[in-house]
Amino acid sequence: MDLHAHSTASDGTLTPAELVRTARAVGLDVLALTDHDTTSGWEPAARALPPGLTLIRGAELSCRWYGTEPSIPLHLLAYLFDPDAPGLAAELARVRAAREVRGERIVALLRADGIDVSWSEVLAYADGGTVGRPHIAQALIRAGLVASTAEAFAPQWLGERYRLPKDDIDVFRAVELVRQAGGVPVLAHPRATRRGLIVPDTVIVELAALGLAGLEADHEDHSSAERAAVRALAGRLGLFVTGSSDFHGTHKTVRLGAYTTGVETYERIVASARGVAPLTGPG
Ligand code: AMP
Ligand code: FE
Ligand code: FE
Ligand code: ZN
Repeated sequence: MDLHAHSTASDGTLTPAELVRTARAVGLDVLALTDHDTTSGWEPAARALPPGLTLIRGAELSCRWYGTEPSIPLHLLAYLFDPDAPGLAAELARVRAAREVRGERIVALLRADGIDVSWSEVLAYADGGTVGRPHIAQALIRAGLVASTAEAFAPQWLGERYRLPKDDIDVFRAVELVRQAGGVPVLAHPRATRRGLIVPDTVIVELAALGLAGLEADHEDHSSAERAAVRALAGRLGLFVTGSSDFHGTHKTVRLGAYTTGVETYERIVASARGVAPLTGPG
């Protein structure tokens, strides 16, 4: 089971249909579709489900912990929630709109420095999906300024010089909204220090009290010591752990199914979900 993957509904490069077919082709039994701040990939993925693959419909929510200055961004995976639950749906719509404002501002900063990229081009790369920095990275590649998405995230580009904060969801509110929508919240890559600041364990303790169900342990952005620390914390708090690829197609080098989750976690997710059910392909 791979419980974290992105499609063209956000910043992946395979369509939802291609993603579910690829999941089966690489031998997965269960795939979670977790696009950033959107459920728009759910229907096309469900329609294309190959025999033998079970789809967990999910999302990865852009969150922030405001308990320190500067505030710290973090990602919350949410599984099997009701996509029409008003509180959560409204927050997702707000965050997607804010991503467009922010993306356009980043493009304006680049243009002010004489860099030949355009907002219309970035929107075309996003192709109706949730806009993110990887789409701006594509414009930088097209303009010949960097050779890869990873290079576009260097400090002199989108990693720092041309990085603007997103308007995210307060992480405590996000856990509550996911639970209210019948979903199962799991903190994505909680120790990914390579990505930037991480929240202290005390925040994770508070989130667990509010309904956080699990922690992503096996992830390419965690060292082996970080994976062990996540497992130990999950054990202390009674949370389950997951392992996931966080596949993004050609925007990253990680393969689909590179990290996986055990069946006992699947059972815990399904047992506590009240929103939508897992879907299994025909046959
Ligand atoms: P945003 O959501 O607009 O803040 O952009 C963050 C997204 O960029 C993440 O979800 C990843 O998909 C991608 N990303 C972040 N860092 C890197 C990197 N070093 N190389 C490639 N993609 C990255
Ligand atoms: Fe992403
Ligand atoms: Fe993430
Ligand atoms: Zn992700």
